[in-house]
Amino acid sequence: MATLEIHDLHVTVEADNATKEILKGVDLTVKQGETHAIMGPNGSGKSTLAYSLAGHPKYTITGGTVTLDGEDVLEMTVDERARAGLFLAMQYPVEVPGVSVSNFLRTSATAIRGEAPKLRTWVKEVREAMERLHMDPAFAERNVNEGFSGGEKKRHEILQLELLKPKIAILDETDSGLDVDALRIVSEGVNRVRESGEVGTLLITHYTRILRYINPDHVHVFADGRIAESGGAELADKLENEGYEEYTKGGASA
Ligand code: ADP
Ligand code: MG
Ligand code: MG
Repeated sequence: MATLEIHDLHVTVEADNATKEILKGVDLTVKQGETHAIMGPNGSGKSTLAYSLAGHPKYTITGGTVTLDGEDVLEMTVDERARAGLFLAMQYPVEVPGVSVSNFLRTSATAIRGEAPKLRTWVKEVREAMERLHMDPAFAERNVNEGFSGGEKKRHEILQLELLKPKIAILDETDSGLDVDALRIVSEGVNRVRESGEVGTLLITHYTRILRYINPDHVHVFADGRIAESGGAELADKLENEGYEEYTKGGASA
């Protein structure tokens, strides 16, 4: 079973000619087959954690370790991380002009699997995955994220998740901006992947709403750049009732 281990992770960003520490010692272990929810107020550093794990150049690791099955993730290029089995669904997915969804998915699958998927089975695989996510087949020929609605972007992220079958998936606010129907469809996708037992999921969210559809094994409260408390699904209920105030007192949270 693949294990992602984050130990005492410290991360800074450059902003306004100053270096600002955003992550202040994050400890977290996610195993294949487990679903972890990370919940926290805006500005607490949740996306910074996701980007740092994905290898975004804007974020400087100043301390700590990240390993996947003992391999040093921080030494890997972005491509190597994907091939090692890490997947990131971004809070704000980027447009890729001139590249169709269909080509993008096949290129990604080829890079990750090490060989091009057989065309006939692949086309069928993509079509079926799109049907499950209630996506119009015509969507496959559109350019990645170009003019996509918020909901379409999120479905496209889950489509990638289902087709690329990573070991560890980091989903950054995949629930934000979705209406109830889209939220249900996206959650069903996450649950299908979960049922395979082969994916460990780190579900980053600000709202408890998505946890009505996806029941996490572990819930972590993220505040001021670190995990402030960990527990089971009951911790999400507590947050739903009491909010984050207890964790942000005296903290600098926007
Ligand atoms: P969250 O996802 O929990 O809302 P973020 O990780 O997006 O939090 O942001 C945490 C803090 O780091 C915020 O104060 C934000 O302004 C700052 N930050 C994050 N990324 C950058 C960046 N690329 N440049 C400057 N500041 C950043
Ligand atoms: Mg935010
Ligand atoms: Mg964020």
